[in-house]
Amino acid sequence: MLINLTKVFKEPESTLEESGVVDVGALSEDMAMTFPSGARFSVKFKNLMDCVTLSLKCECEYVSECARCLREVRGAVSFDFESMVKVDDEGEFLLDADAVVIDSSNRLDVDELVSGLLVMQLPMKVLCREDCKGLCPKCGADLNEGECACDKNEVDPRLLKLKKLLDNDK
Ligand SMILES: [Zn+2]
Ligand SMILES: [Zn+2]
Repeated sequence: MLINLTKVFKEPESTLEESGVVDVGALSEDMAMTFPSGARFSVKFKNLMDCVTLSLKCECEYVSECARCLREVRGAVSFDFESMVKVDDEGEFLLDADAVVIDSSNRLDVDELVSGLLVMQLPMKVLCREDCKGLCPKCGADLNEGECACDKNEVDPRLLKLKKLLDNDK
């Protein structure tokens, strides 16, 4: 969605509000998650005579899987973003700068803004719970549901040599 800011730029003390949903499906592959209802946002622009400010609120649900046990995990993030709006002839978009840059026709690409900010808010690693025990590396059993029959004391062959050395020391 492109928001045209010409009016709010021209009229001192004017405001402009928009809200909607951004399809952020393009982030799915990189983030290893899906976004069943997109990213909901509301944005407000205010002309303060010498500048235009932007305040954005956004929330987004995601579905991913636990990095340890692969169970489905549902979560949500919500965040606020405040910035000044700056016009740039080249229409270059600078996310890490304080000013959000819009194109030469006074349009701001909300989809791009929301996706760019959302990426920084989403968790890089999702766990079903902090102390998830994960899957047994041998049989694949979900260790959250109880111990499996595998021998956990079996020593890694690479460590056997070391173990022998240590035992001889006793
Ligand atoms: Zn888990
Ligand atoms: Zn096992």
